[in-house]
Amino acid sequence: MIQWASGGRETEEIVFAQFNELLTKVPLLYFILCANSLALAYTHHGTAPDYLTIYVAGILSVACLLRAFKWHSFRTKTFDLEQAKHQIKMTVLFSIVMGIGFSLWSFTLYSYGDIGLRAHVAYYMSVTVIGIIVCLIHLPAAVWSTTITVGTPFVLFFSTSGQPVFVAIAINFSMVVSVLVLIALSYYRAFSNVIVAKQDLQLQHEHTQQLNIQNELLANQDGLTKLANRRSFANYLNQKLSDNAHDHSFIVGLVDLDGFKPVNDIHGHAAGDRVLMEVSERLATVLNGDSMLARIGGDEFALVIDHSASHDEINALGKNITEALQIPFTMRTGLVQISGSCGFAIYPETGNTVDELMDRADFALYQAKAEARGSSIIFSKEHRRLIRQKSQIELALNQSVKNNELSLHYQPIVNGKTGKINGLEALARWYNPELGHVSPTDFIAVAEKTGIVTDITLHLFEKAICDLKVWPSYLYLSFNLSVHDVMSSNTLQELMRIIDNHGVSSSRVQFEITETTMMSDLDHCSKTTKTLQEHGFMIALDDFGSGYSSLSYIHKLAFDNLKIDRSFVDHLLQDQRSQGVVKTILELCSSFEVSCTVEGVETVEQKDLLLALGCTQMQGYYFYRPAPIELLILTENNGEIMNLLTSPS
Ligand code: C2E
Ligand code: CA
Ligand code: CA
Repeated sequence: MIQWASGGRETEEIVFAQFNELLTKVPLLYFILCANSLALAYTHHGTAPDYLTIYVAGILSVACLLRAFKWHSFRTKTFDLEQAKHQIKMTVLFSIVMGIGFSLWSFTLYSYGDIGLRAHVAYYMSVTVIGIIVCLIHLPAAVWSTTITVGTPFVLFFSTSGQPVFVAIAINFSMVVSVLVLIALSYYRAFSNVIVAKQDLQLQHEHTQQLNIQNELLANQDGLTKLANRRSFANYLNQKLSDNAHDHSFIVGLVDLDGFKPVNDIHGHAAGDRVLMEVSERLATVLNGDSMLARIGGDEFALVIDHSASHDEINALGKNITEALQIPFTMRTGLVQISGSCGFAIYPETGNTVDELMDRADFALYQAKAEARGSSIIFSKEHRRLIRQKSQIELALNQSVKNNELSLHYQPIVNGKTGKINGLEALARWYNPELGHVSPTDFIAVAEKTGIVTDITLHLFEKAICDLKVWPSYLYLSFNLSVHDVMSSNTLQELMRIIDNHGVSSSRVQFEITETTMMSDLDHCSKTTKTLQEHGFMIALDDFGSGYSSLSYIHKLAFDNLKIDRSFVDHLLQDQRSQGVVKTILELCSSFEVSCTVEGVETVEQKDLLLALGCTQMQGYYFYRPAPIELLILTENNGEIMNLLTSPS
């Protein structure tokens, strides 16, 4: 479309803005034209022939009025881009046709009148041109065409009229119109710039909105699995609780993968990601659209079942979930076997707030993991009691070091063939006046959570080193470290400082680190154990076989002794497979040139069978129960340590 002064950018928005402006201006323009023409026809009536003052004037005025009404009627219609462009084009065309028509009419009238009437013609034409330019200021093409079709003939006509007044008017008119055209064009440029700026602003606004939507999505979605994330899961639960005026029951579930960390360590992060994606697909299949599913942590998933369900139904769901996760995952690097544990909390009987429901589902999950990996548990009254007990333990444990409530029992590690004691494992004991004896399995876990385990470890290690100092020199101390200890370089430094302070050789101390601790951060732990070995300490891989033993990671770890978990010994006599596993582990140890100790030997039969399988280092109730050092009276007698309470059988 011809604009002749649009400043280069002709956009849809400019066309519509022009069209909107013309909707009010075009009727006004034709009204001015019509009124001016009728006034001119009136003054010339009687002087000029009737066909000019009545018929031609009439035809031109009717044409003006028709155009005016047509544009007026456009206000109630909607136009698409092409229609709007067409009407603008027509307006330019009409301005040319009408300009020529009115000019010819005016010049014809000029020849009939006296000087006064001629002056009216000059006045009429100049005022009309100025009026048109002002009304069509948003349409540069029409400004040009009117100036050319009406203005130019006007100037030529009057400047050559020979009348000084008309010559002056022509000169004056040409100057005013030139300025007006310039103003009109610059106004139009400003007008179109505003429209373009508005459009840019709108685009920017839309872009910002788009970004906001994307941000919102990212903030609420887990990037890997595309499931809801922790934040949107919490929002969903919050919303659900506030909308739930009738206290409709629903169920919150947490699923945590067991043995996922080693997948990352052994098969790489890409494989880990693929496992997580497949886990989310398997969970979605089991839930079958019946619930909201979210990934709320690395290997943690959460779900909400939006309706009530019986304990049997929830247990069945938990079973389906854990079974689905037990199917091995096929990776390029081989099959990956993990499992998943579930904890459920039922609203409203278990909790009334998001935190309560999540904490309790988490507690049930923790219980499920502790009982048997790959199982599912619903939060119960018994759990409520356990939580109370835990918080009591937590409180009392904080004072345990200060109140000197912690002590050590020692359990000998013996040569099963000769009965000779090689070392003593220190086992923590806690007696609290209110809680009584608390098992280390219970309080170490709590201490780990609260962080007080560091104080406990250092306090007990100091005690153990004091004891070790008076033992015969061939005996070593085996001391358990918790995951917290292994992860903290400060704790490790402190342990070394204690042993240095007492002037005891580090070669007499073995640190026991469980397989589960090692697997929690394979790289970090292997570095730690290497450092400890470099300082002369021995390292034992404790509870081997109880967690996710994968023979493929063993070579990554630095250790001197492997302790086979007592769960293997439990079934040793009846179960050929356990015997096979023990044999394989023994072979593995000899190929890695590390020693092997079997824990939990309780009977002579077990001892004999283990000896037959090739195992010599043993520990268990059959030989010695853990006991205070005073009861294990250690005297050297022909290289043997005599225990005065229970002598070795
Ligand atoms: P653990 O390191 O595997 O210790 C062996 C556990 O098995 C001890 O339980 C011991 O009393 C028990 N046990 C030994 N022989 C037999 C047997 O023949 N049959 C049976 N059924 N059990 C036997 P305890 O003393 O209750 O310790 C439990 C766990 O608590 C330990 O398992 C260890 O993981 C942790 N623990 C104990 N003391 C400490 C400590 O000072 N620091 C840390 N971080 N953990 C400790
Ligand atoms: Ca141990
Ligand atoms: Ca153990």
